[in-house]
Amino acid sequence: MRKSPYQKAKAVEKLFSHLDADIQKFYSKSSMRCLAGCGKCCTKPNIDATVLEFLPLAMHYYMTGQAEQKLEDLQVKNSLCHNFSLTSEEVGSGFCQNYNYRGLICRLFGASAAEAKGNKLKIYTCNIIKESQPEAFQKTTAEINEENFAPVVSHYYRQLANIDPDLARNYYPINEATKKALEFILHYYAYRKPPKGFKKAA
Ligand code: SF4
Ligand code: SF4
Repeated sequence: MRKSPYQKAKAVEKLFSHLDADIQKFYSKSSMRCLAGCGKCCTKPNIDATVLEFLPLAMHYYMTGQAEQKLEDLQVKNSLCHNFSLTSEEVGSGFCQNYNYRGLICRLFGASAAEAKGNKLKIYTCNIIKESQPEAFQKTTAEINEENFAPVVSHYYRQLANIDPDLARNYYPINEATKKALEFILHYYAYRKPPKGFKKAA
């Protein structure tokens, strides 16, 4: 039987909890860390993501009666992720308002590895970390290749695609991916009973 959007969102959440455990392992071996209060990577315009990785967020909006309003808000084109909240005028200072529902790309960036030439792994991170912690960066780069403890980006995207290849095939800016995830859910439940726990919009 085909899985419902609710079941798919749960499967994605399960994958995220495995990844979170892998990220903890990564941090237990590496001293590389994000700078306090930094959210600069979230301010990159139009970060690419799949619809599927934002299905848990869209399902959260749906289950809490916010889906229609969020869909309307997302009609307004904005290259900045709608989850990002600025904390000061300083560029990059801010936080994710939906941290527990952030996508796969958000979880992987800064704490994972990408496949590189010569069967090597390179750390998938930002210049701020590379430049502020050069020794930790060099050491972690060497160690992930020897001990293989970093979550690998392509492995996680492959596991995501196993949940629903169609919803994980194409990449869109995060706001667009979330909009498509909301449309998918609303279309599916338009003539079906919503999952248990659903709260109607006030
Ligand atoms: S990955 Fe880099 S840019 Fe993003 S929050 Fe961490 S330090 Fe800041
Ligand atoms: S979903 Fe959250 S973590 Fe991901 S880019 Fe947007 S604000 Fe940043």
